[in-house]
Amino acid sequence: MNIHEYQAKTLLAEYNIPVPAGLPCMSPDDCIAAAKRLGGDLWVVKAQIHAGGRGKAGGVKIARSIEEVSQYAHSIHGMNLISNQTGPQGHTVKRLLVEEGVGIARELYVGMLIDRSRQQIALLASTEGGTEIEEVAAVTPEKILTAYADCESGFNQNDLASITEKLGLEGCSKTQVIELFNTLLQLFIEKDASLVELNPLVITPAGNVIALDAKMNFDDNALYRQPEIRELNDPDEQDPDEIEAAKHDLSYIPLEGNIGCMVNGAGLAMATMDIIKLYGSEPANFLDVGGGASVEKVTNAFQLMLKNSHIKAILVNIFGGIMHCDVIAKGLITAARDTHLGIPLVVRLEGTNAEQGKKLLADSGLSIITAKDMADAAKKAVEAAGEMA
Ligand code: GDP
Ligand code: MN
Repeated sequence: MNIHEYQAKTLLAEYNIPVPAGLPCMSPDDCIAAAKRLGGDLWVVKAQIHAGGRGKAGGVKIARSIEEVSQYAHSIHGMNLISNQTGPQGHTVKRLLVEEGVGIARELYVGMLIDRSRQQIALLASTEGGTEIEEVAAVTPEKILTAYADCESGFNQNDLASITEKLGLEGCSKTQVIELFNTLLQLFIEKDASLVELNPLVITPAGNVIALDAKMNFDDNALYRQPEIRELNDPDEQDPDEIEAAKHDLSYIPLEGNIGCMVNGAGLAMATMDIIKLYGSEPANFLDVGGGASVEKVTNAFQLMLKNSHIKAILVNIFGGIMHCDVIAKGLITAARDTHLGIPLVVRLEGTNAEQGKKLLADSGLSIITAKDMADAAKKAVEAAGEMA
């Protein structure tokens, strides 16, 4: 789960990590009131969406007067922000953040994430803050410094000292950054984060350290024990198809290919996608219907898949263990009728009551293509999709 920058900064502040004073806003009027409350003579007006690259796309503006705050707030609120992270369709800005302006001497990059192969938490730091870290990683990987922490023992403090030296920090800036690395790790572990990025973490002309930007992701599987993080969810930022899928307890990810797949079990779903590729086509989605497949669930799954305009055929690959194939077959027949399915439907049923299931499909009067095994199913789906193209 992602949260907004202003929410991430509230969390940082709870851990005494310095952030600029700021107020979240829902309208341009809010922004003007916020700037007046913050006082001073320099403000930053920032679009709050779950994507980065806002600065270059016009979603972060520095205002030197209340009039400029108003002007920028009006231009950013409601705009369709298209950044290199939003996708070409962009994203509508509904929330803003108004902050006090901060003087910048240096911009650093700080990231924290889980390194699964090492089973540790990785800290990434670089002198190249404010820029796209992906580009730094590709062109000058030596500029990314790393240290690793175990959940119990934390960082080796010598590693942190060495990183801050390589970052060119000294004196109180160095002390503050080392403390920040340790505190960020504590936050990361306590809140079940999966990614934290401070880009940039700035050093002010006076040598103080402030997180100017913050991005945080959290492990969905840990949300049950993080109620205050779950509260921060903004449904406006979620993909509507993903919300719809979650409501029906389906794991659904749309893809670029033309064969829709409906499968029970994530492993079988992956194998089905592989075999479609093996026979020369591409899957239109990943879809795991899980352990149960009621008529309602199958209908919802069909409806979700059919929203994808590339789709030319559907391949249903079900291994009925606990789930009985005749029950699935009834679900498929009803769903195909209810959704007025206009594209070829290839079905491979195996397992408990497979014969009864196949007979039901054959007797349904619907033009369902049955397959005897996975290879046969993939071949038939690729052929059928080719004929529709
Ligand atoms: P992003 O483009 O979505 O990553 O948004 P950021 O929050 O990182 O803002 C983009 C850039 O705006 C930063 O890298 C800074 O250079 C600049 N910026 C943001 N806030 C301030 C500020 O308070 N003072 C100054 N001088 N620059 C700022
Ligand atoms: Mn940034």
